[in-house]
Amino acid sequence: MIARRPGCAFATDAWSAGALAARRRRRRADFAGRRPRRLAPEPAASHHDLPPVSDAPIKKVWIEAGCISCKLCQDIVPQVFLVDDDKDCVVKPDAAQHFVGKAEDIEQAKRDCPVEVIQVEHG
Ligand code: SF4
Repeated sequence: MIARRPGCAFATDAWSAGALAARRRRRRADFAGRRPRRLAPEPAASHHDLPPVSDAPIKKVWIEAGCISCKLCQDIVPQVFLVDDDKDCVVKPDAAQHFVGKAEDIEQAKRDCPVEVIQVEHG
C-alpha cells in the first residue's frame, strides 16, 4: 500500500514513518564500525624536512627580481649581500671570496629570505 504525505505529489511508501525508520536502521548497520576517521594533521614543516644542501661548493649567488629590501640577508652575511636604502639587494662584487667560509650563512639567508629571491648555484 502506498502512503502519501499530505500535499506531496511524489510521495510514495518510501516516506512512511516505518520505511524511514527501517532505512535509518539499515544505514546504521551499513556504517557500523567503519565510520570515516579523521585524518591525523600533517606534521608541521621543520628544518628536518628541507631538501639537503648540496655538498658541492657554492659557485654563484644572485638575486632575482622581487626583493623587498628587508635587509635580512645583509644582517646574516654582510660580506656577501648589500642592501642600500630603498634599493634592491645586490651581491657584492667581491662576494665570491666568502662563498667557502660563509656557505652555511649564505644558505641560511637563502632559506630565510621572505620572498625567496636569493638563488645559489653549487658546482
Ligand atoms: S632577504 Fe630577500 S627580500 Fe630581504 S633584502 Fe635580502 S634578498 Fe631582499
